[in-house]
Amino acid sequence: MAKIVAVLYDDPIDGYPTTYARNDCPQPEVYPDGQTLPNPKAIDFEPGQLLGSVSGELGLRKYLEENGHELVVTSSKDGPNNVLDQELHDAEIIISQPFWPAYMTAERIAKAKNLKMIVTAGIGSDHTDLQAAAERDITVAEVTYSNSNAVAEHVVMSTLALVRNFIPSHDIARNGGWNIADCVSRSYDLEAMTVGTVAAGRIGLRVLRLLKPFGVKLHYMDRHRLPKKIEQELDLTYHSSLESLSKVCDVVTLNCPLHPETEHMVNAESLKHFKRGAYLINTARGKLCDKDAIAAALESGHLAGYAGDVWFPQPAPQDHPWRSMPHHGMTPHISGTSLSAQARYAAGTREILECYFEGRPIRDEYLVVQGGALAGVGAHSYSNGNATSGSEDAANFQPA
Ligand code: NAD
Repeated sequence: MAKIVAVLYDDPIDGYPTTYARNDCPQPEVYPDGQTLPNPKAIDFEPGQLLGSVSGELGLRKYLEENGHELVVTSSKDGPNNVLDQELHDAEIIISQPFWPAYMTAERIAKAKNLKMIVTAGIGSDHTDLQAAAERDITVAEVTYSNSNAVAEHVVMSTLALVRNFIPSHDIARNGGWNIADCVSRSYDLEAMTVGTVAAGRIGLRVLRLLKPFGVKLHYMDRHRLPKKIEQELDLTYHSSLESLSKVCDVVTLNCPLHPETEHMVNAESLKHFKRGAYLINTARGKLCDKDAIAAALESGHLAGYAGDVWFPQPAPQDHPWRSMPHHGMTPHISGTSLSAQARYAAGTREILECYFEGRPIRDEYLVVQGGALAGVGAHSYSNGNATSGSEDAANFQPA
């Protein structure tokens, strides 16, 4: 019997939903590169249900208990006496979602003597100290592709919201106003702008494809260059550095994982190369940016806007400068946890668990660390090391 600890976000303040806005939850048949959707032997939930919160339990309880395992579900993950720390000593598997990350630091990994696997229900395993996991031969897996397209939609939405000054204009309408000049003095067309993505993996490439019909010039950088055929199809300009990309782009969007190579890649120094009035969209990870440098660039007008849904740490403390800086379009970390995406990553988590318990290999594309080293998507998209430092500040969060 194994003990599985799932750290999930809290239920809605008014309680777990009993009805939903829609009756169905359409899903793609296959991902754009041909990868198949998660294919567990069965699922015990209806796609479209809230699965990522504590009462949703990622739809895992029936399966795990029928197979004799113990499932502990909690949202308590930070600060003194948190439930995660109390349950760690005999946990075999830890599951958490990047939206409400269980920071699996070296200290926690050392305490979890029985730990064999850490599963990210979603994408982005930077909340685990990957170096420490590798050294203990703990498998780290994520549900690759499960929410990549969902995030790309959020990038497009955020780009348009900033460039067209949607959020302040919406506020004016809600507040009974009608001053057109106030709405439009910061409003532009996206058409004809130059848009660049830092990384053209699953999310970055999807963003490029979605933005192509807007009549923008498309640029990218990545440590893996895209095939010539795709560069030609989308008329892409490749850059080998952030400096060269940011010098020419009106909109820059960050779509790479957080790992030691990318931590704080946008800082006071690198921001100097951005065009005055550039927009920065970051749905990848908060720690890709120096938070104070971003706030200062918005205050000074060097950046015209910043939007995204990722912060560091999470949940973000009340005094995090991105809550109050000007011209931002921030949300809590939501882009990859739409009800549509939850159905895919809950099924993917079940698939990973079935493979683990039945002794079958986990899909290579889901692996981040295995056998003591980066593997699968981890070897392709991450670098060795640890990016969890400072995560203990998550304990400072107090709901407003
Ligand atoms: P992916 O693995 O398909 O793509 C990542 C790309 O980043 C790869 O092409 C890789 O070569 C590139 N890359 C890595 N290091 C780089 C570097 N130093 N410089 C340039 N390029 C580099 O992953 P994906 O599905 O596109 O997701 C990317 C990231 O987005 C995730 O790791 C996660 O951090 C974030 N994400 C956020 C959400 C959300 O809800 N906001 C959801 C999913 C993923």
